Amino acid sequence: MIYADHAATTKMSRTAMDAMRLCMEETWGNPSSLHDVGQKAALALWSARERIAACIGACPEEIYFTSGGTEADNWAILSAAHEGAKKGKRHIVSTAFEHHAVLNCLQKLEKQGFEVELLDVHESGTVSWRQVAGAIRADTCLVTVMYANNEIGSILPVERIGAVCREKKVVFHTDAVQAAGYLPIAVGAQNIDMLSLSGHKFHGPKGIGVLYAGKGIVPEPLLAGGAQERGRRAGTENVPAAMGMAAALEEVCASMEVNRKKLVSLRDRLIAGLSAIPHAALNGERSNRLPGNVSFCFEGVEGESLLLLLDGRGICASSGSACTSGSLKPSHVLLAIGRSPEVAHGSLRLTLDAENTQEEVAEICRAVSESVERLRAMSPLWKDKVSGKKPFVL
Ligand SMILES: *Cc1c(COP(=O)(O)O)cnc(C)c1O
Repeated sequence: MIYADHAATTKMSRTAMDAMRLCMEETWGNPSSLHDVGQKAALALWSARERIAACIGACPEEIYFTSGGTEADNWAILSAAHEGAKKGKRHIVSTAFEHHAVLNCLQKLEKQGFEVELLDVHESGTVSWRQVAGAIRADTCLVTVMYANNEIGSILPVERIGAVCREKKVVFHTDAVQAAGYLPIAVGAQNIDMLSLSGHKFHGPKGIGVLYAGKGIVPEPLLAGGAQERGRRAGTENVPAAMGMAAALEEVCASMEVNRKKLVSLRDRLIAGLSAIPHAALNGERSNRLPGNVSFCFEGVEGESLLLLLDGRGICASSGSACTSGSLKPSHVLLAIGRSPEVAHGSLRLTLDAENTQEEVAEICRAVSESVERLRAMSPLWKDKVSGKKPFVL
């Protein structure tokens, strides 16, 4: 089996599993309890907070544990929007290719009377700080722009965007779920006010994430209950998951540079191999992308069918399409970078990890190439293109 879907989730690292097991055996108390067992758990939770803070250049008081990246995104956006509304600011700037955790939350706010402006994405897969600067108005309460895109792996200029927001005194949130562990994060130097992380995207446990909120930003409590997370997020804390997430984040951050070199070499070989397939195109730029991300469109191929053929050969990958309400809608990300719906339907995302090998990359190239050929041979649309009845797009 070859696992090349690390943007969807990762296997927990041995270090994270060990940290969780130890925590479950030794610091299993309720951190709110005043007795010894509870206080041991409270100390463990605080140490997880400190270690995660250290990895992103924050203070432990600025770290809030959540149930994952989705909750962190929702919390950041709803908080900033509601805070803005108190001052009559109801304009929010974001991009057309954010994760659904951001886009669907913004859609909810739109129904509540907020004005959401989604910036166009350049075909290279990014948005410039100038676009952000041009969109900010006197009544803008929030800019939310992702650090790296989960589908095409493009990297956005968060530091510059953050500088623009700082200058215009607008809160800046970034979804850094895909960036964590692969790209450096320093909230201070990068002018980030709020940032979302998810444990399971970097070999930590699922169901835990972090919202970083800088000093001066008070995330509004979304749940009514106890006084956990300094009164901002009620509910007994998931201490083992917090410990697992801290261990995993420390590990990926410590090996970031080594992993990056290895991944770039795997990624570039995979891109070169798949580029040899006729009428195929890489989504996003060659270099300005996450070190493990490869995203392609193949003309005359249905992404889902390609995935099934690859799965049959033991290769786990992903396509850009998401099955929504019975109809197969092409990915909003690929449409945002200007792919036609037809081409966007033929997408394939392969996301590698430092555990993947050059042999696996060679096998993926062979399998994709043969599968694309097989699917095209069965496609009436492809026959029309070959015979010249319909034009090639790629
Ligand atoms: C996975 C992902 C999320 C959601 O994180 P969960 O922990 O699975 O809720 C949000 N944003 C991006 C960019 C992601 O890749």
